[in-house]
Amino acid sequence: MFVPGTEMTSEEFREFGHAVVDWIADYRAGVADLPVRGEIRPGRLWEQLPDRLPEEGESPAALLADLDRVIVPALAHWQHPAFFGYFPANSSLASVLGDLLSSGLGVQGISWTTAPASTELEQYLLDRLAEELGLPAEFTFPGGGGGVIQDSASSAVLVTLLAALHRDSLGAWRSSGLTGGEVVYGSTETHSSLAKAVRVAGLGHDGLRLVPVDPVTLAMRPDELAEAVAEDVAAGRRPVLVCATVGTTGTGAIDPLTEIAAICREHGIWLHVDGAWAGVAALCPELRALFPGVAEADSFCTNAHKWLMTAFDCSLYWTRHPGVLVDALSILPEYLRNAAGESRAVVEYRDWQIPLGRRFRALKLWAVLRWFGLRGLREHLRRHVALAAELADLVRSDDRFTLVTEPSFALVCLRAHTGNGAAADDRRTERLLASVNKTGQAFLSHTAVDGRPVIRVAIGGVTTESRHVLELWRLLREEFDRA
Ligand SMILES: *Cc1c(COP(=O)(O)O)cnc(C)c1O
Repeated sequence: MFVPGTEMTSEEFREFGHAVVDWIADYRAGVADLPVRGEIRPGRLWEQLPDRLPEEGESPAALLADLDRVIVPALAHWQHPAFFGYFPANSSLASVLGDLLSSGLGVQGISWTTAPASTELEQYLLDRLAEELGLPAEFTFPGGGGGVIQDSASSAVLVTLLAALHRDSLGAWRSSGLTGGEVVYGSTETHSSLAKAVRVAGLGHDGLRLVPVDPVTLAMRPDELAEAVAEDVAAGRRPVLVCATVGTTGTGAIDPLTEIAAICREHGIWLHVDGAWAGVAALCPELRALFPGVAEADSFCTNAHKWLMTAFDCSLYWTRHPGVLVDALSILPEYLRNAAGESRAVVEYRDWQIPLGRRFRALKLWAVLRWFGLRGLREHLRRHVALAAELADLVRSDDRFTLVTEPSFALVCLRAHTGNGAAADDRRTERLLASVNKTGQAFLSHTAVDGRPVIRVAIGGVTTESRHVLELWRLLREEFDRA
């Protein structure tokens, strides 16, 4: 019996909670039988909702019924094993439960003192993970650096830019703001979050230089970077930040970090390495070897919420200059003053991020690490890298398809090949993507290379196995004839 309208009793929560867990378990058990993304008309959900919000509380059964009736049909199913679009958004069941525990505790980590275990577990996990990812000791708290969980890689690059502006101006940025001439560098393949950070920070479009990439690897060209920096310095501009990427969003390209780091060192530029998707692969030594030079970065970011089994949001960020970051961002109003914070014996994570409020995100990451163990996580990563290699071999073996680049980690980029020239290939590629997605049996997304369409197959779902990739390959060949 439920009596809605006031806070649930423990017994009501127990009963509804069990029903919710059952609902999630059923959804996950059956998701592979749903169309990965049905054809969803804009406004469809809107039409099915009542004109007014409920005046009286309702029985929980009504909410679960609406999930089935209204919500599920209007979604792309990211946890479907044949979801190969964008990048994976792993939401393992262990992390779902970890997230529930976090909401259950309902604490706010605005200071160490308001939720000590939240801050310290986060510090502990980031220090231990730094070691497992092969990051230098200078990224850990005992080594003078430190890690934090950000909500997203976009936030990570924004706070990095603010810290770099602060450092570059010897602190003057905090009082006088930008002085003009600050320049930030990425490549033409760098994620759009860099451009957004530049805009938010007030540098304007002219403050961002996108360095050309190598035509084959699509990685940033260090000679072009060196030239751009030299040109800017000669013109009296101030290079502040370089954002290099391990695993670009388009094709998974890996920028040459060692050469880029040397340029940054020479000019005192902050080097941020964005490994939002692929950085977690550093858990496997043989994959880490694909991107040497991370140790030379000033900061590094990788998302546990993409390929490391952890429900959004959980972006892991380390810097060797936490003092600069905190100095750039800290503002201490009277109502947040406390003895522990003032003693400087504790970390105040609010000064490492944009918002004040903080969820206990470390708990879901801890739940993931304890459920899978490092071995389970490494197996998950390796399995998908092997599947990508397998798919790439199949693509190579069929002259109706071409690989646009060599597979990178677990990403395969391909095009249709008609033998009738680039324009015909492009039309076929676009139609092929649309017709595969229309089947509902798999979901793919696209990018463009040299202005031409490319189909991306991002392998990495929590439950994605060999048979799902083989089935995708069958679909691609079957739909090629229809496209
Ligand atoms: C996904 C992605 C981002 C943005 O990640 P968010 O956590 O969603 O902000 C940034 N960089 C790269 C390379 C990405 O693939």
